[in-house]
Amino acid sequence: MDLTNNVIIHTKKDGIEYLQFRKLLEYGLVNCYTTRINDFDLDGRLDKRDTEYNYKRLCESLGIERSSIVRPNQTHSDNIQCINEVIKLSDVDGILTATPGINLALSFADCTPILIYDPVHKVIGNIHSGWKGTAKKIGPKAVKRMQKEYGSRPEDLIVCIGPGIRECHFEVQDDVREIYEKEFSYLGVNSEAIKKEEGKEGKYMIDTTLINKLILEEQGVKAANIYDCGICTVCASSVLHSYRADKEKSGRNVAILGIKN
Ligand SMILES: [Zn+2]
Repeated sequence: MDLTNNVIIHTKKDGIEYLQFRKLLEYGLVNCYTTRINDFDLDGRLDKRDTEYNYKRLCESLGIERSSIVRPNQTHSDNIQCINEVIKLSDVDGILTATPGINLALSFADCTPILIYDPVHKVIGNIHSGWKGTAKKIGPKAVKRMQKEYGSRPEDLIVCIGPGIRECHFEVQDDVREIYEKEFSYLGVNSEAIKKEEGKEGKYMIDTTLINKLILEEQGVKAANIYDCGICTVCASSVLHSYRADKEKSGRNVAILGIKN
């Protein structure tokens, strides 16, 4: 399966495979979202040597140094860190930098990657927005931090939404529906974002991509500047790691964003 579409390019070469946003390539940014053929776990599920071998090949392909990658320990939080050097980060799900040569990496299995670029102030953000992060509005919080720390204007921002579990597969029950309806009071059941499933008691489909777009637009991001790859990780689980598809044994796709030196 080739996932190339109007928004992304699916590159396969020398045993390494990844998706890249056309828009971010136009701006000359380092960017990728890796696929099932490689795994980038650092939590002990994979042999560290295998992970490092995959990083080595990926870095060679992207033309970056392994030592330039910052990859925090993620906790489904709304914690966002601004950095200007390669440092070790824990309990962080959003990273911002204006420093060229630092490559921001986060890992994903079904959660939504939100890659942000301010072409005016040359600032980038890599955001891990799973269902918990989306409920905590980590996307718009990152935009607010960019405004505060770097003087970014939301209307200038380019936002790329990577593969994630989409409304076709994100089935939830009342516990998650209640959290979403509390956080997004304007999104009632049977809106476009939260739909009750026909004939299934207490089951709902949530469109977290749509919610992320709506809350980013509320923060001032232009709809025309949001580039959504439109890919569901469960639908494309023959190519991408997916937690819903693979459960506990699921591998991780890594999304990297960087400003070239
Ligand atoms: Zn799907």
